[in-house]
Amino acid sequence: MKALRLDAPRQWNRLDVAPPGDPGPGEAVVRVHTVGVCGTDLGGYLGKMPFFSYPRIPGHELGVEVVAVGAGVANVRPGDRCAVEPYINCQTCYACRKGKNNCCEKHQTLGVHCDGGLRPFFTVPARKLHVSRKLTFEQLALVETLAVGYHAVARAAIQPDESCLIIGAGPIGLATLEFARLTGAKIVMLDVNEQRLAFCRDVMGVAHTLQPSDQLETQLKALCDGHGPDVVIDATGHVGSMSAAFGLIAHGGRLVYVGITTEEVKFRHPVFHRPEGTLLCSRNALSPDFAAIIALIEDGTIDTRPWITHRTPFDEVIGVFPSYLDPATGVVKAVIEVGE
Ligand SMILES: [Zn+2]
Ligand SMILES: [Zn+2]
Repeated sequence: MKALRLDAPRQWNRLDVAPPGDPGPGEAVVRVHTVGVCGTDLGGYLGKMPFFSYPRIPGHELGVEVVAVGAGVANVRPGDRCAVEPYINCQTCYACRKGKNNCCEKHQTLGVHCDGGLRPFFTVPARKLHVSRKLTFEQLALVETLAVGYHAVARAAIQPDESCLIIGAGPIGLATLEFARLTGAKIVMLDVNEQRLAFCRDVMGVAHTLQPSDQLETQLKALCDGHGPDVVIDATGHVGSMSAAFGLIAHGGRLVYVGITTEEVKFRHPVFHRPEGTLLCSRNALSPDFAAIIALIEDGTIDTRPWITHRTPFDEVIGVFPSYLDPATGVVKAVIEVGE
């Protein structure tokens, strides 16, 4: 069967791979319908994603259909439509035993550390499948992106009377926005790109958007009752933004990193000590987050319609993929239709 593999940065290879055999105990074979493209995939393509190894079949945002299940599988059956939780965890390490399967010591993300879904069929642990009777494959492929934002908002523990600044209006920032606004807190979006901020205002209904400037602290105080935001969530992965964010929180506030940088983040300690700041990292998402998000889409609380801006058939991916890097295309989320 067909597959798309990155053999090295910027080197796609369309190849034939063997179809999966019968699923073993606890496993399921799935047919891949829809694959979302995200920053991790773009980073892998560019050779800038530190965890990405080659050769690799990408694809971790997946809308799939179960075709066969192995012995002992009770949570899914053939024909079920599912989102895939692409975080493969060992189930035995300290983090797994504490229920923190999102940061397993031997964590592997499908399509990053091991092969993912840019192929019509593959085998996954059935416990990583989350069923919906209502959602489309495109909606199911969005669940993982949303899960990253859901988990960041849970880490931030935002209260209804608080204010929250989200830095970065890319897909992870937008996913964070979806759940941050459900808390009832005042939300401010910050991005360098005015086109992205316009999307936040016009499509996502955000009242307050800002671009970075030397007036930023004053502007934030004007929006947040005279102090900084109670919560700042950085979804940029940009070292400059992540360093500057220490100086933006209200006294007693929290800073949450959901973006990742491989560079050294520096800050002057009094800047963060004076407000008694708390720094949190948010990695991936927990298994129960997936079912919670599916329920929120099913009942209409989360509207997925604005999300998917580009659709690409499997056969056109190699040619079209580089255009996803260009902000001028206005891409929020591109999805690949895998087909036969
Ligand atoms: Zn992703
Ligand atoms: Zn583990």
